[in-house]
Amino acid sequence: MSSTAPLILADGITKRFGANQVLTRVSLDVSERDVVCVVGPSGSGKTTLLRCLALLEEPSEGRVVMQGVPISTPAPNKQVKAAGRAVRSDIGMVFQHFNLWPHMSVLQNLIEAPIRVKKMPRDEAVAIAEALLKKVDLSDKRDAYPARLSGGQQQRVAIARALAMSPKVLLFDEATSALDPELRREVLAVMRQLAREGMTMLVVTHEMGFARHVGTRTVFMDRGEIVEAAPGAAFFDAPQTERAKRFLQQFE
Ligand code: ADP
Repeated sequence: MSSTAPLILADGITKRFGANQVLTRVSLDVSERDVVCVVGPSGSGKTTLLRCLALLEEPSEGRVVMQGVPISTPAPNKQVKAAGRAVRSDIGMVFQHFNLWPHMSVLQNLIEAPIRVKKMPRDEAVAIAEALLKKVDLSDKRDAYPARLSGGQQQRVAIARALAMSPKVLLFDEATSALDPELRREVLAVMRQLAREGMTMLVVTHEMGFARHVGTRTVFMDRGEIVEAAPGAAFFDAPQTERAKRFLQQFE
């Protein structure tokens, strides 16, 4: 395992659903402390790419490699598969529709995976959960059920739940798209804070302000391919392709 290897790498991923090829040889590396933002038109394959990296979809071709270790299936042998299972909890995911467990309180949502998957003692899991709720400013909602929370609060709980597993990388799939502008801001503020603290993040987003000001790199996808990638604000200031220029015009 090399320390210079990217934290997580999409290595030539092609994904087909039946006859529909939605990703074509996509390669993307995310290193420690990177905040990589993936933008592009609807249907361009952003979510599918993220789901492949989170091992929720299996690439048709290509691999997901974490710190030099291939973690996606089909794995060439049992050893690699075991490595894949071991690092699965290193990847946190935040979904567009929060996906909290509705029958569990906020606290239970946060301690479930650490206790079950990591075999963490309950007291320790509760202490970590309480610290994370403080961080996302929801200590007072500890015993509430998700249905009683606003969308913005639910998404902040979902972020805290992902953090409770101490992931090495957090993947965000349009985490603010289902929210009204007012509630978006509170979720974006939490994401910005995480970036500031050095959390490694891959963010599929329609929030061009976040990508421009918080992202360390912006990747533009169209029709299943990465068309452009540029550091910081460069993609927005000087898009190189007609496709990117056209895409950005809608946000002017
Ligand atoms: P984006 O996130 O950029 O909007 P998606 O990755 O969601 O794009 O979708 C890319 C394409 O893949 C779309 O044409 C979509 O219909 C198709 N797709 C995504 N998931 C599935 C699936 N589970 N089965 C079949 N087609 C899918």
